[in-house]
Amino acid sequence: MQRLNLIIFGPPGAGKDTQVEKILEHFNTDPIETGAIIRDLVKSDTQIARQIKDTIARGDLVNDSIMEAIIKDRLKKVSAQSGLIMDGYPRTIKQAETFNLLLTFMDRKLDYVVFLDVPEDVLVSRLSQRKICSICGKTAFPQEENCSSCGGALEKRIDDNLESIKKRIINYNEKTAPIINFYRKRGLLLHIDGNKSPDEVTKEIFEGLKS
Ligand SMILES: [Zn+2]
Repeated sequence: MQRLNLIIFGPPGAGKDTQVEKILEHFNTDPIETGAIIRDLVKSDTQIARQIKDTIARGDLVNDSIMEAIIKDRLKKVSAQSGLIMDGYPRTIKQAETFNLLLTFMDRKLDYVVFLDVPEDVLVSRLSQRKICSICGKTAFPQEENCSSCGGALEKRIDDNLESIKKRIINYNEKTAPIINFYRKRGLLLHIDGNKSPDEVTKEIFEGLKS
């Protein structure tokens, strides 16, 4: 299998989790899902955990230096044979620049940034209905009553309240969206219409990765 280094990128609610799963079925790729790492981290009862918890519950971004420490630590665990797919990082231009350096240190280069483009009104409605597994963190589809992977009970994410959703979309537009141009200029952007069925989106992504 091909070793691909990817970023999956898009606004909150764009369907990144679902597409990462599809990519993992076809490529030897280590998923680095920063949202899950952070949600795990805040379960511990430390001062830093409480700080981060307040930050994400408000819909704000965890600051660059904390993110860098988390990512460095996680990248050390990626095996040399496997590719990687970043989900939830980088989220600012500064983080994108740092990530370039980290990849260079690992003797890797970024192959693609898969950008899932979804209109804002669709995002708000998706996020306000979203549930995740309380055990493994997998995102559930609306019709599911229990987690399809482990059978765990479903719950709302702490940041999926309407206030936080709006704030995250504003943050995304202000701080994260500029990354699109950053990667487009470097010829790495794979622009995908994310407002389609999950299977159609997957098909478009795979066609892009092959070309
Ligand atoms: Zn589960």
